[in-house]
Amino acid sequence: MQYEALRNEVVETARSMLEKGLTVGTGGNVSVRCPDSNRFLITPSSLPYETLVPEDVVVVNLEDASYEGRNVPSIEYHLHRKVYLARPDVSAIVHAHPPVASVLAALRKPLPLIIDACTYAFKDEVKVAEYGKPGTIELAENTVRALGDNTGVIMANHGILCVGENLEEALGRCEVLDKAALTYILSLSIGTPVCLEPLCDQD
Ligand SMILES: [Zn+2]
Repeated sequence: MQYEALRNEVVETARSMLEKGLTVGTGGNVSVRCPDSNRFLITPSSLPYETLVPEDVVVVNLEDASYEGRNVPSIEYHLHRKVYLARPDVSAIVHAHPPVASVLAALRKPLPLIIDACTYAFKDEVKVAEYGKPGTIELAENTVRALGDNTGVIMANHGILCVGENLEEALGRCEVLDKAALTYILSLSIGTPVCLEPLCDQD
């Protein structure tokens, strides 16, 4: 089986996303760029993460969006494809529906850099992408635009997307975003949180 190690990483990351409470059911999706070609691997559509096996992972072509495998790819494969095309520095993507960051998504409120962990995880304030219906090119393009050169983005009335050099990094950023969102919301309930400047040495 081609890309066996990477397929395993996709499955493990999807399971971790669920176990860490960053999504429920079959929500969210995970992908990784194949290092030796213009393809990426992504979780399949509507299969439970608990029973996912490496063979279920779908291979998608970056150029023409064609795919191969025994399953159809996640509905959001356009979202992942557009991010990889726009960001050659990105090798892994986790898109999740975490409970607290979703509050910011519902309010369409960006997350400022309010704790140190945010400044290490994100280059700048995490912006909110304009709304687009799930699975659409519009959603993909809106998300790419709001992501810019940052490492995370909030998707209006939907969830979040974080990128990284590997899946561990992308998943870790989703956790930071959700926890920082909780800190932000609690801070706003008793005062005005002080925002930090971005770190300059992220490149
Ligand atoms: Zn989603």
